[in-house]
Amino acid sequence: MALLPLKELYLACLYCTKCDLHKTKTHMVFGEGNLRAKVMFVGEGPGKDEDLQGRPFVGRAGQLLNKMLEDVGLKREEVYIANVVKCRPPNNRVPLQSEVDACLPYLRNQVAIIAPKIIVCLGATAAKAIIDKNFKITAMRGQWFERKGVKIIATYHPAAILRDPEKLEPAMEDFKKIKEELDKLS
Ligand code: SF4
Repeated sequence: MALLPLKELYLACLYCTKCDLHKTKTHMVFGEGNLRAKVMFVGEGPGKDEDLQGRPFVGRAGQLLNKMLEDVGLKREEVYIANVVKCRPPNNRVPLQSEVDACLPYLRNQVAIIAPKIIVCLGATAAKAIIDKNFKITAMRGQWFERKGVKIIATYHPAAILRDPEKLEPAMEDFKKIKEELDKLS
């Protein structure tokens, strides 16, 4: 797919029928944030609240993400947030590989536009799509990877932390690392 400017990319996603998720979604969730963000967070896909509002990370997991950002001195307005798939998988199931493959070019296009210095994969689906298809989130989270000069790290998805609060502490260690890396950039 040739790279599109932001507005055209948004419209391509809005009217996209490349996978069956468009049939059951309420709203496509493009992503939002600072278009000049140094750090981009990538989750799995929209959940119920996100699907209803058309915005990423606005439900309980989103509130936790906001709090985690604040706790390391980052504001949500400073970062950009998107997902691997832009339409909600029914019942919040994990997106199928075919759905990830269909949607990933849009995310790549978004990354090319935002040009972040750091990408944070929130959860295994994002880490498998962006870092390595065999990524193991528990064993490999918190490690830095690098692609074309962009630093990439994965940590637990806030929804996984809500299900298992013991994941909060290691995730906060990862968030501190991300902030330290960001501070080095500025
Ligand atoms: S999830 Fe992505 S590929 Fe599938 S219909 Fe929505 S925008 Fe298109």
